[in-house]
Amino acid sequence: MNPIPGLRLGAVARLSLGLVALMVSMLLAGDLLFGFSPSRAEAEQKARQRVGESVAIQVAVLLETGSEYALNKTLQQVVSRNKDVRSMAIRRTGGKLIAQQGDHARFWIAPQDGRSTVDQLRIPVKANNEHWADIEIAFEEAAPRGIREWLAHPTVRLMGFLVLAGSLLFYFYLRRAMQYLDPSTAVPERVRKAFDVLADGVVVLDTSGRIVLVNDAFHGLHPQAGLASTGKRLTELDWLRAALGERPSEALPWNRALRDAAAVAEEPLSIPQPDGTTVETIVGSARIADGNGRLRGCIVTFDDVTEVHRKNDQLQQALEELEESRKRISIQNEELRQLATRDPLTGCWNRRAFVRMAGDLIEQARRDGSELSCIMGDIDHFKRFNDVHGHAVGDKVIQAVAKALGSKLREGDVLCRYGGEEFCIVLPNATAEQAAAVAERARETVEAHAAESIRSADVGKVTSSFGVATLKLGPATLDALVDRADAALYTSKNSGRNQVTVWQAPAQ
Ligand code: GH3
Ligand code: MG
Ligand code: MG
Repeated sequence: MNPIPGLRLGAVARLSLGLVALMVSMLLAGDLLFGFSPSRAEAEQKARQRVGESVAIQVAVLLETGSEYALNKTLQQVVSRNKDVRSMAIRRTGGKLIAQQGDHARFWIAPQDGRSTVDQLRIPVKANNEHWADIEIAFEEAAPRGIREWLAHPTVRLMGFLVLAGSLLFYFYLRRAMQYLDPSTAVPERVRKAFDVLADGVVVLDTSGRIVLVNDAFHGLHPQAGLASTGKRLTELDWLRAALGERPSEALPWNRALRDAAAVAEEPLSIPQPDGTTVETIVGSARIADGNGRLRGCIVTFDDVTEVHRKNDQLQQALEELEESRKRISIQNEELRQLATRDPLTGCWNRRAFVRMAGDLIEQARRDGSELSCIMGDIDHFKRFNDVHGHAVGDKVIQAVAKALGSKLREGDVLCRYGGEEFCIVLPNATAEQAAAVAERARETVEAHAAESIRSADVGKVTSSFGVATLKLGPATLDALVDRADAALYTSKNSGRNQVTVWQAPAQ
């Protein structure tokens, strides 16, 4: 509870004032008991006594010489030089004044008991060992004194200095000390123990961002984390500052939590270790409020996710390896498929694949009632190329013819290397005439261009013969269709080669 509304004195300020008050009280008590500072009245009385005695000595000397003028002059000098002295006189025993300066009758008040006071000083003068006269000096009144004089007193000045300087010094010293020892931020031992049980690193900060508590798990985040002590800021921990990098102060999770009531920051933080590894953490921060909703600080958690990261990396690596091997398998499958379905010399479908594909096309054509034709082709006198130029050139001739045939086909036509230097083509949706036209263009292309593509030898002219058959004329199977095309090819061979023959039903 605050005794003066509107004036709030912090605990530190109150403590400082209390300490100063104690110190001043001790000084006053000491002064009272042991009289550290001299009494002003005593000092003044002694000084006045000395003035009087020196005057008495001079007067005694002058009385011997008997110069009244010199006597008066001396008194005059004393009165004018001592501002404190109001009047002065020499009074013979019996009461007669023999010399005086100042308005002595007015200022001199004879002390009651004959003893001098601080303001009225009487000094006896002796002649021939007898009391001959008294010197009477009336001083200015010693009291009462003004406030300025009181303030000028050394004790008062010392006290004033101690109050001012002491308050400031105590205030700053205590404020610094309270950062470490603030009882309001003290955390009970059982709460500390509870934090130590947690697997997450936990730091509790006060409202100014200074550490109030760190738990055991926090110490495990870095070998230097054990040095995190109460009263420090988190950014004063070198290892943590290194992890935070260039992040501006206001962006730090705990500063955001302290600033913004709604903020519950959570972000990844990688903490470099002396051995070159990192500890991966997720830093979370949330503010702490008291029962009245007043901000008391914030709690910062460091969730060590290094193991999760490691597992994730392993998983990622395993996935990448899996994907890699899936690609490899897919390539190998494709290679196998190529090997299984393609002729390695020409790249045309091999006979096995052809039989399957052509069978499907024939079935489709039957279902749709659509046209489908077949062309058989064979290189003329092929044996000669082998015999004259060798088997390798023979292969090149086969490749050149396959390329020439392939260039004349539509998409959907199926070209197959049927045997050594024989080719078979199935053309869906093609009549016998259309197929014959395709065969004719193929024949022309082979004749015109096949030879020129063989650079390793001058093979002369390459020609080929073709036979055409169509489904429309009744063959029931692929074999029957191919047989008819083959028969027509035979006719082409027998008719002088390098020509196309369309199968005709034999005359009845
Ligand atoms: P025709 O005009 O009557 O067809 O005469 P031809 O010489 O072409 O006769 P035939 O069809 O009997 O000859 C085929 C030859 O092709 C037989 C074989 O040695 C050869 N041959 C078969 N396969 C290959 C091959 O893959 N490469 C090479 N270089 N020659 C092959
Ligand atoms: Mg041949
Ligand atoms: Mg042949």
